[in-house]
Amino acid sequence: MPAVVSETLLRIAVPTPLHRSFDYLPPRGTDCSRLQPGQRVRVPFGRRTAIGLLLGVTGESGVARDKLKRAIAVIDSHPVIETDVMAMVQWASAYYHCPIGEAMAAALPVLLRRGESPNAADITAWRLTAAGRGVDPASLARAKRQAATMIQLQRHPAGLAREAIDAPASVLHALADKGWIESFSRNAEDPAGPVATEGEAPHTLNPAQQQAIEAMQASPGGFQPWLLEGVTGSGKTEVYLRLIETVLARQQQVLVLVPEIGLTPQLVARFRRRFPVPLALLHSGLGERERLAAWQQARSGAAPVVIGTRSAIFTPLARPGLLVVDEEHDASLKQQDGFRYSARDLAIWRARHLDIPVVLGSATPSLESLYNVAHGRYRHCTLPERTGGARLPAFKVLDIRNQPLEQGLSYPLLDAIRRHLDANGQVLLFLNRRGFAPTLMCYDCDWVAECRRCDARMTWHRADGHLHCHHCGSQRPVDSTCPQCGGQELHPVGQGTERVEQALAERFADIERIRIDRDTTRRKGELDALLGRARNGGRQLLLGTQMLAKGHHFPNVTLVAILDADHGLFSTDFRASERMAQLIVQVAGRAGRHERPGEVIIQTAHPDHPLLQLLITRGYPAFAEAALAERQAAGLPPSTRIALLRAEAVDAQRPIDFLEDARQRISDSGISGVETWGPVPATMERRAGRYRAQLLLQAEQHGRLQQLLGQLVRELEGLKAARRVRWSVDVDPADTY
Ligand code: ADP
Ligand code: ZN
Ligand code: ZN
Repeated sequence: MPAVVSETLLRIAVPTPLHRSFDYLPPRGTDCSRLQPGQRVRVPFGRRTAIGLLLGVTGESGVARDKLKRAIAVIDSHPVIETDVMAMVQWASAYYHCPIGEAMAAALPVLLRRGESPNAADITAWRLTAAGRGVDPASLARAKRQAATMIQLQRHPAGLAREAIDAPASVLHALADKGWIESFSRNAEDPAGPVATEGEAPHTLNPAQQQAIEAMQASPGGFQPWLLEGVTGSGKTEVYLRLIETVLARQQQVLVLVPEIGLTPQLVARFRRRFPVPLALLHSGLGERERLAAWQQARSGAAPVVIGTRSAIFTPLARPGLLVVDEEHDASLKQQDGFRYSARDLAIWRARHLDIPVVLGSATPSLESLYNVAHGRYRHCTLPERTGGARLPAFKVLDIRNQPLEQGLSYPLLDAIRRHLDANGQVLLFLNRRGFAPTLMCYDCDWVAECRRCDARMTWHRADGHLHCHHCGSQRPVDSTCPQCGGQELHPVGQGTERVEQALAERFADIERIRIDRDTTRRKGELDALLGRARNGGRQLLLGTQMLAKGHHFPNVTLVAILDADHGLFSTDFRASERMAQLIVQVAGRAGRHERPGEVIIQTAHPDHPLLQLLITRGYPAFAEAALAERQAAGLPPSTRIALLRAEAVDAQRPIDFLEDARQRISDSGISGVETWGPVPATMERRAGRYRAQLLLQAEQHGRLQQLLGQLVRELEGLKAARRVRWSVDVDPADTY
């Protein structure tokens, strides 16, 4: 029996792993009639205090009144988070089965989670002085960190918040002593970037762009999802810019979501040149002060254009008019731990809630979005050709089964590289594996170096003489003799980017090489600097992982080579072939974006793989159609819905037992229409010292899956066994291993 009480109670989302909200008595003397959802409240929680978010007030609680604790204080006089964002997070918390308190916390900037005022105070920032603007950072060759800081500040003429500068105080003071930089105090609510004095003239649209824009603008206002499918370099961004223009003309705001790798200085510069308005940028590289400031500008409406990565979907907007999700297929739009939301799917939800259009753009749309087009949920626009007469590159599959390879490079490929360099072309080599070699092996006894905490091999990084585990991050010095037989014959097997770079250095000694991977871009500013050199490079070798593959525009690249396409063809994950196709098309899209036609060479030991053949002979749309049919036949998404229940523990049996219990509960639940697969150990069972297992849930109807998960999560949460494993639910998982 719910106890009915007279005093108003506060229903609060407290950041804890429990799937529920908590009721509190209001702080003494609170005028509850003035409280609004979205205000922060400090509450006692266990032996600590916590900052929660008010979901609403209520007259009754499932908890007896004398058991209820009293909240300590209402922190805000006004909500810090708007009702539409509250509604979205509440919906997402239910849909993804993420505890409401954790979901709400994830939606707030860290400083607000800690109780700071949303009206951020002044912050310290640094900028170049007039003297500093005349300095060539190259002259600081012997003071690398000073040079890097100068480069960083040159890119931000309006100055950068102290937190955003990746240099110790000593570097800043050294530069200040030279008179080249100065500090100043900036109101955090000022526009973060320079406001361009004059906008850039837009391109004259080509007919396909024209059609797309007319279609989007002809439809009545209100909610409408669009899939803008345009081959790489077809002018999708130009279409976004035009749409945004009309949104700004109506005094409304736009939110543009991009993948983590997509938020490049070039993209931002393009927006700045086009729109002489303040821009709010939200990405992982920001300091917390800066993030709060950008968030506040979006919320107040001071920044009409808001660009950000995944979590920017939670940014409040004063006058929302349009949502854009660029590279909507990109896996980084799905959060992989904690609150496992898809920013793309939330964008659809939010647009519907706000009754505004939403544009999803990609050269390689997700099968989910194509499925939604086929079922009439999204409208479709295509840009089938590249702008300015640039042609799509020609594909060539290179069978490496009977080829000698030189550090992963076949002779026909080496010839092609030479040919393109001789013609002053730029060559891009793609290998999604960093380090020197993925395996270190003893030739005497076949021992291989493995991670002590994972079921995985260690990658040898020659540059630092260490073995690294790419799964848990552990490192150790490379063995000098075999720990198993004592032999001396330890050799690297296979290639990473570091090793291929060395091979290229030997073969093409006179050619400039640029390697872009996590190891060469650790410091702030390094990636920008390398990309800048690559963009302006002529006769040059570019080598990199997927950091190089996405979104960038290298006008002079004429040859793209994919050194190893086979990884994606035979993975256990059902999305592997989709991801492989997207990656190949995206990497290939770096070639021939200018007048010069491009060539793409794909090295593979499986040249006859049907999906690979389809992709290169008939293109991504034909591939996607076949892949969708395969998924449908296998009962996999998007025609069905799936969720993963994952569990892990320090011993191997507990996760399996826990999931077996869950499976039993599912079959006893009386809810039909949900099938289970497993439990099974994860493909890599042990990671970072923990054993992992999973149970796959699959349903024709999403409603059934939701109903079941709702019930299951509540039951599991109460189990003692649940406290001995770490478990989680992943709805619409991005991967299943
Ligand atoms: P995408 O986003 O599809 O990769 P972009 O919008 O970046 O394509 O356009 C690719 C290149 O073509 C850019 O350099 C852009 O400035 C240029 N561009 C876009 N639209 C046009 C157009 N209508 N006429 C000429 N050039 C264009
Ligand atoms: Zn040995
Ligand atoms: Zn490891």
